[in-house]
Amino acid sequence: MFELNNRVAIVTGSGSKKGIGRTIALTLAKQGAAVVVADLNADGIQDTVQAIQIEGGKALGVELNVTNKESVDAMVEKVLAEYGQIDILVNNAGISQKVTVEDMTIEDMTKVFNVNMFGLFLCTQAVLDTMKKQKFGRIISLSSVSAKRGGGVFGGAHYSASKAAVLGFSKNLAREVAVDGITVNCVAPGLVNTEIWKSLPKEDADNVIAGIPMGRPGETEEIASTIAFLASEEASYITGEEIDINGGSHM
Ligand code: NAD
Repeated sequence: MFELNNRVAIVTGSGSKKGIGRTIALTLAKQGAAVVVADLNADGIQDTVQAIQIEGGKALGVELNVTNKESVDAMVEKVLAEYGQIDILVNNAGISQKVTVEDMTIEDMTKVFNVNMFGLFLCTQAVLDTMKKQKFGRIISLSSVSAKRGGGVFGGAHYSASKAAVLGFSKNLAREVAVDGITVNCVAPGLVNTEIWKSLPKEDADNVIAGIPMGRPGETEEIASTIAFLASEEASYITGEEIDINGGSHM
């Protein structure tokens, strides 16, 4: 697969033990990148860092709250002190909540946007100066199929709206920084085989599967491999794009 030797990658939200971010971190490390495992969850960070190191990869754990500018700036400073460069940012940290619009409070809406959109903005802005100086950067953000066709059993309208905002933000940014050697892309996963999927009651799970032509949820590796591609030299002329990874549930 795609070679990432001598690259430094930050993966936000990569401390979730069964999450997509952990697999992204492991995959980028396997391809040769030094990976910054950044998350709110200190135990999870350690776990992912160890898993990378056991496989012979390079990793640095950093506690991060994407919603807090000081925390984001401190992370960037730490990464630059350790590695002197930042080549890849994967905006993976995200939260969801199952609630109808009728029952949603403005606090619910703010909480979801704070992580999924404003946190993504803070992390992205914080790496731009370094990437511009390097004349190289890859920014890859996790949107969702629910941005395009509405959420299902998992998320509310605030989640779908925040993930749609990620798409618009990324396309705008892609135009702004294309000339600086920075590409900006999104992946939009459908249902992925993570904790949330495993926790679904059978009836809900059957209903979800009925809407997926491939008849199964995606695996975290199937998201991570696309991100490794977008991060690689091979994807050098792709920017402002979003790649659907959903087993055909939205075409
Ligand atoms: P997850 O809940 O397993 O992991 C998310 C991680 O983000 C956690 O480790 C959490 O600690 C971290 N996080 C939350 N708030 C944070 C903050 N303020 N600062 C730093 N870290 C924070 O989620 P997942 O299912 O692996 O999803 C990962 C991404 O993929 C999310 O953006 C999600 O919206 C998106 N996505 C997931 C699915 C799916 O089916 N699981 C589908 C489409 C898109």
